[in-house]
Amino acid sequence: MYRSLIRTSARQLASACPVAARGFAAHATPQPFNWEDPLNAQSLFTEEELAISETAEAYCQERMLPRVLDAYRAEHFDKKILEEMGELGLLGATIDGYGCAGVSNVASGLITKAVERVDSGYRSGMSVQSSLVMGGIDEFGTQEQKDMFLPGMAKGKILGAFGLTEPNHGSDPGAMETTAKPHPTKKGYLSLSGSKTWITNSPIADVLLVWAKHHETGKIRGYLVERSECPPGTLETPAIKNKNGLRASLTGMIHLDECPVPEANMFPDVEGLRGPFTCLNSARYGIAWGITGALEDCISRARTYALDRKQFKNNPIAKYQLVQKKLADATTDAAFGTLACVQVGRLKDKGEAAPEMISMIKRQNCDRALWNARILQEIFGGNAVSDEYGIGRHVANLFVTQTYEGQSDIHSKFLRLLPNVLLEADIWKVLFSAELLREYRPLCRRKKTYTGV
Ligand SMILES: Cc1cc2nc3c(=O)[nH]c(=O)nc-3n(C[C@H](O)[C@H](O)[C@H](O)COP(=O)(O)OP(=O)(O)OC[C@H]3O[C@@H](n4cnc5c(N)ncnc54)[C@H](O)[C@@H]3O)c2cc1C
Repeated sequence: MYRSLIRTSARQLASACPVAARGFAAHATPQPFNWEDPLNAQSLFTEEELAISETAEAYCQERMLPRVLDAYRAEHFDKKILEEMGELGLLGATIDGYGCAGVSNVASGLITKAVERVDSGYRSGMSVQSSLVMGGIDEFGTQEQKDMFLPGMAKGKILGAFGLTEPNHGSDPGAMETTAKPHPTKKGYLSLSGSKTWITNSPIADVLLVWAKHHETGKIRGYLVERSECPPGTLETPAIKNKNGLRASLTGMIHLDECPVPEANMFPDVEGLRGPFTCLNSARYGIAWGITGALEDCISRARTYALDRKQFKNNPIAKYQLVQKKLADATTDAAFGTLACVQVGRLKDKGEAAPEMISMIKRQNCDRALWNARILQEIFGGNAVSDEYGIGRHVANLFVTQTYEGQSDIHSKFLRLLPNVLLEADIWKVLFSAELLREYRPLCRRKKTYTGV
């Protein structure tokens, strides 16, 4: 019944509009299917974006990939990698000027994806440098701060770290304890005291963007702490060793003990959580892109393995439908995740991306990547336990990506559709700035009209 209707429609279309019918017929011909890009995301990219993606992929596969296994085993981050990225213009890529490339948000996402296809730890090092620190300085810094830091950071010669999380305050950074007070002896200086933990790049960073509460207002402000200017004993950045994920990136603490920081190193205007969360929004957008690269690498490795490995009557295990389903689920999620990133990236370029959109893609892509990677790991049987197959490394890394920059459950609060969510104002503050919250107030008031809350 349906078939005849479709044939009739095609015939009617052919007589009414021969050109359109030819187009219809052409589309009816099965198109080749590319398992590496199932929904043809490539067709959505500009030539420039494709060229940038090719450059980034070539560098990452040829120069980074051969180093990652040793780096992961030794829990070592080679800071030359950031210099190499700088030479290629991959750092702070969306920033205009200061030696940065000034590319679209989609192009920057493609760079992130290429890096994370190799390892989430390398992408973390890059994201902190590009989105969290360079992005923060570009958005909120004075002209002097931009001139002082951005050109060196774009080249990967000055390394950055972003200190928000504290030992007692992770998901709720608004409750942070780190303070900035007038320095008791140095005029024109503030004295920073407090501790930050789980800080990517902190052991090697030259400049640390530390968020601390200002003594006069109690509001959170951003301070650029230059390691070379800190007197001995005022700044310590010990590494956190023996991690079981993200081992190819360096993570550490930041201890500040009456550390003198020039007032000129404070971001001049931004107050409250808007500062850190604006930086985090960009970085979370990058994570949403990046993990699709890690998941695609898991798919590619699992597919190759399934085609090679033979069990039961010498059949490749790829022949069995249970194995195929695992690959189909993962491939679908990677493709959907990529399209969502492209859409949000295009909106971001137009200034139309809401923070909730970024929460949504960060959460969804991270959750799906972790879930699928864990399932794909099963395809390797016992060999999954060997680090040489790479899948276990991605699984361990993807747990971290689901946890940092807002743990997945915390991001679920972005929905704001359910009455009980409307009551959790503290969680909102976790995700959004005071300015954004002001926009939500009418919605908060409306919650009174719900029943049973
Ligand atoms: C390798 C690595 C690198 C990192 N790099 C950086 C960095 O460069 N800079 C930086 O500032 N931070 C960094 N972090 C810190 C990271 O952002 C935090 O770990 C993350 O925000 C979670 O905070 P937490 O670990 O204190 O967990 P907690 O806040 O203690 O949360 C623990 C669990 O409780 C849940 N939970 C908490 N509150 C609620 C609630 N109200 N409702 C429901 N569930 C809740 C969370 O979802 C989570 O599952 C990094 C972390 C890691 C592991």
